[in-house]
Amino acid sequence: MSEYRFNTKCIQSGYSPKNGEPRVLPIIQSTTFKYDSSAEMAKLFDLEENGYFYTRLANPTNDAVAKKIADLEGGVGAVLTSSGQAASFYSIFNICSAGDHIIASAAIYGGTFNLIAVTMKKLGIDCTFVSPECSEEELEAAFRPNTKLVFGESLANPSLIVLDIEKFARAAHRNGVPLIIDNTFPTPVNLRPFEWGADIVIHSTTKYMDGHASAVGGVVVDSGNFDWEKQRDKYPGLTTPDDSYHGITYTEKFGPLAYTTKLVAQLMRDLGSIQSPMNAFLLNLGLETLFLRVPRHCENALKAAQWLENDGRISWIEYPGLKSSKYYDLARKYMPNGTSGVISFGIKGGREAATKFMDSLKLAAVVTHVADTRTCVLHPASTTHRQLTDEQLYACGISPDLIRLSVGIEDIEDIIADIDSALGNQKH
Ligand SMILES: *Cc1c(COP(=O)(O)O)cnc(C)c1O
Repeated sequence: MSEYRFNTKCIQSGYSPKNGEPRVLPIIQSTTFKYDSSAEMAKLFDLEENGYFYTRLANPTNDAVAKKIADLEGGVGAVLTSSGQAASFYSIFNICSAGDHIIASAAIYGGTFNLIAVTMKKLGIDCTFVSPECSEEELEAAFRPNTKLVFGESLANPSLIVLDIEKFARAAHRNGVPLIIDNTFPTPVNLRPFEWGADIVIHSTTKYMDGHASAVGGVVVDSGNFDWEKQRDKYPGLTTPDDSYHGITYTEKFGPLAYTTKLVAQLMRDLGSIQSPMNAFLLNLGLETLFLRVPRHCENALKAAQWLENDGRISWIEYPGLKSSKYYDLARKYMPNGTSGVISFGIKGGREAATKFMDSLKLAAVVTHVADTRTCVLHPASTTHRQLTDEQLYACGISPDLIRLSVGIEDIEDIIADIDSALGNQKH
């Protein structure tokens, strides 16, 4: 499939029916798979042969969709997870354990921040959060002998800070560790982090990839580029025999697929955060039109952002596609065709005015979601980022008055008219 261009891959990758098979990717709604003999099944359990035996470990519908996403990102392998949160957790826990240390950009999704700062800390994994705008020296100083990875978000939700991926990749590689990038907002339509040095990419497929707010899901994609063997001592889980799998050494047996194979064989086996085949089917429908929807989201968002920027009722606005944005140059470099459909802004009158504005919207709905066809709004400080202190909020690039507007693909005139009328109640 890889020889096709990007848009063709969105439609065709992952599933090629043979003679007489269904043209559309079928939902294999079966927990289990039948074999003629126990000996055949035993080979699958031993990872001696490829095949399906239990959907917690692998399912043909999920595999086809994962393959498509790997193809879109330019990776060698991918694993679907039940949510974006599971993808973040698995991507980290696959190569870290108690006593290890990681480095993360502070400008990340609130759920990821909490996962790393609170839950992973309880598991004995320490994190140093760095400003995405830190200097190379500051970044270098965050490394410790037990640092196992660097984590960042290409376009942060909801601060819209653009990460200088090359800077983070250089620092990670100088220190012999991989860079993991959450690429949920730009999607591979606008940015493919592997082309800039990232080693692992994760997504909340719940957002633009599904794109219709129908199915919660996630994915972990491996570029296959990181040389685990070269860092043997750092990653014993990949480079030494796994006693829970009959002494298999993942790097030896699976080469570039070592990371994803271990993720399935150990983490899916033990923790079980699979995506349901039904959700994978819905995700695949979303992926088929990803290349049509994302540019339209960006076009609408840019128009809405330009309109908001010139409106006297707005106190500030952040959209990396605006020339006035601090991140305009980085966005031009990493996402020349557009960033995402998400805009953040504050309105005069602060928090109270923000609530009034949101409650006055008619087309745009107040929902805990972002990045689907329908325009929606959210106040992160009182919802998704509620657990964070004001100090942590500012570290993530979020002010307490921030309104996150996810611009849909409706007619932009209707979206702007709705915003205009809802702002009408505000003081000029
Ligand atoms: C939503 C989101 C997540 C978490 O994904 P879920 O599918 O909600 O678990 C992680 N990262 C980013 C950037 C997100 O927007």
